[in-house]
Order: sequence, then C-alpha cells, then structure tokens
Amino acid sequence: MVRVIPMCGLCRRVRDERVPARDATRWVDFPSYLTRHVVSLSQIQFSSDYCSECRLSYDILKSYGI
Ligand SMILES: [Zn+2]
Repeated sequence: MVRVIPMCGLCRRVRDERVPARDATRWVDFPSYLTRHVVSLSQIQFSSDYCSECRLSYDILKSYGI
C-alpha cells in the first residue's frame, strides 16, 4: 500500500496526519516522521503542499506585493 505524504515545497517538512491540525508539531522534518511512523521508503509518495507557516509567510509576502 502506498502512502501519500504532503510535503512543503518551501521548507521540505512533511505533514503527519495523525497529529491534529491545530498542533504545531503537525509539520515535521522527514527523519522525525520516520521515527514516528514505521513505513518503508518504497511505500511513500510525496504530494506537494505548503505547511501552515510557509503558507502564512507566503500570504504576508503577497500582501506586500512581492
Ligand atoms: Zn514549510
């Protein structure tokens, strides 16, 4: 079974679906993800996304017209 993991296109952190959305630790670096989840690398696919922090910075930048 292939697991699709959203990865932030800016900071390269991945989203841990088992962590509630409001929790700041939801986006973790990939090595930390692997310590939380037992998955083999051949079963992983990444989808591109932006984490909450990068999305926020992006929105701020956009509001300045950069
Ligand atoms: Zn990010």
